[in-house]
Amino acid sequence: MYDNLLANVPTDLWIGGQWRKASDNARFDVIDPATEQTIASVASASIDDAKAAVDAAQSAFEAWAGRKPRERGEILRKAFELIMRDAERLAKLITIENGKALSDSRGEVAYAAEFFRWFAEEGVRNLGEVGRAPSSGARMVVHHKPIGVAVLVTPWNFPAAMATRKIGPALAAGCPVVLKPASETPLTMLALMPILEEAGVPAGVVNVIPSRRSGPVVDAMLHHPDVRVVSFTGSTEVGKKLLHAAADNVLNTAMELGGNAPFIVFEDADVDAAIDGAMIAKMRNMGEACTAANRFYVHEKVQEEFTKKLTAKMAVLKMGNGLDDGVSLGPLVNAEGRDKVVELVDDAVSKGAKVLTGGKRPDGPGFFYPATVLSNVPDSAKMLNEEIFGPVASLQTFTSEDEVIHRANDTIYGLVAYLYTKDIGRGLRVSEKLDFGMIGLNRGLVSDPAAPFGGMKQSGIGREGAHEGLMEFLETQYVSVNW
Ligand code: NAD
Repeated sequence: MYDNLLANVPTDLWIGGQWRKASDNARFDVIDPATEQTIASVASASIDDAKAAVDAAQSAFEAWAGRKPRERGEILRKAFELIMRDAERLAKLITIENGKALSDSRGEVAYAAEFFRWFAEEGVRNLGEVGRAPSSGARMVVHHKPIGVAVLVTPWNFPAAMATRKIGPALAAGCPVVLKPASETPLTMLALMPILEEAGVPAGVVNVIPSRRSGPVVDAMLHHPDVRVVSFTGSTEVGKKLLHAAADNVLNTAMELGGNAPFIVFEDADVDAAIDGAMIAKMRNMGEACTAANRFYVHEKVQEEFTKKLTAKMAVLKMGNGLDDGVSLGPLVNAEGRDKVVELVDDAVSKGAKVLTGGKRPDGPGFFYPATVLSNVPDSAKMLNEEIFGPVASLQTFTSEDEVIHRANDTIYGLVAYLYTKDIGRGLRVSEKLDFGMIGLNRGLVSDPAAPFGGMKQSGIGREGAHEGLMEFLETQYVSVNW
């Protein structure tokens, strides 16, 4: 079933423009979450391999940083085109290793490619400033230099896009990178390397080192004297560890961490539009997204209509192998992820939540969990404070604007919030009071390469995409001149 798709996918480490085994020959298995079958055995980088990858990146740094911005942009633009040429093959590969429905994977490939197109354009807009010092009258020339070798660490939920969102701006800025993809989904990035080579990315500028030994391998890179920046997307828990490690060499850090998104439906909302938005915000990627709606707050006046319509839509979603036609709900990524969803639902139900659809783990094989709607979820339910990371909508009601703002903000996270109201004045007023880096106002999807993506509070530091994403890989230098 996979032969054609997996036949040419590389499974070794990509260091300095060459495929290499791990220094100690270690490997680990990659599993298809829909079948629980092993689909590949991938080299598992050691600390020595990680150091070699940083050395290769450092060797490539000067020449890459010295290329004209337009030349780097043309290479990124070419990479965008080649990814779109190979989009179907890459989408199927994502589905095989991550489980998500093919329609989600196709969306992800297009989104991932867009970061190369966007930063091909944005990289040529690295502009500085010239001014006069108010007292001395000297000229102040301010410009932005590539920081240096970047360590990129990415999660399994978007195996392509979370990586290109970092590789694109790093390369546009002139920085070489070492990427450590998630152990669950290393194949997509390995498959991207021949594409980047074909696009003209020189040896050593992008290195990929999957590893089962994530902790020590990443730690060794963060303590390598040539590494200047770490850009991480993943859980808040791991992000905090990397922040501690990054402190030792005072690295620049970009952190895209967990979320706990509220989805607020006011009494004056277009309920049908809110349902469409809810299906996207909750169900894209089977709920395995940092941006996934985690807590629904529905005004008591529209609660009945919203609940009925959402339950009807969720109940008819087809669950199955993501490669099969018509499937919109694939398996979760692994047993651990599925068991966490089971535990959170059981906890909420034991405390009084009502199951309107789903709520029961099917028999295997595959790490499946059905689309589930829970109403009357009590405040004490664990799922209101933790990322569910699964296809479960937890519904609560509210009565006043002030109350819902307070409840929405009552979390350590601050990535994204969604709200639906026909009154745009109210929408903007409430948006301003919500402590979230991104707001979907009458929209269930906020991600866009041209927009600054990122969170407040414990959801992260820095922004990806937009011009801000480029600045994460640039350092400001000021030259004081008499001329
Ligand atoms: P994770 O934190 O477990 O892993 C992320 C990456 O870190 C993986 O590559 C993993 O191998 C590596 N890692 C794990 N332990 C490590 C350690 N001790 N030292 C160094 N690296 C280590 O996260 P995950 O389960 O892969 O992804 C899900 C999480 O990612 C969720 O919390 C989700 O909200 C978050 N996420 C955030 C964004 C965002 O943009 N804010 C986007 C996608 C996912």
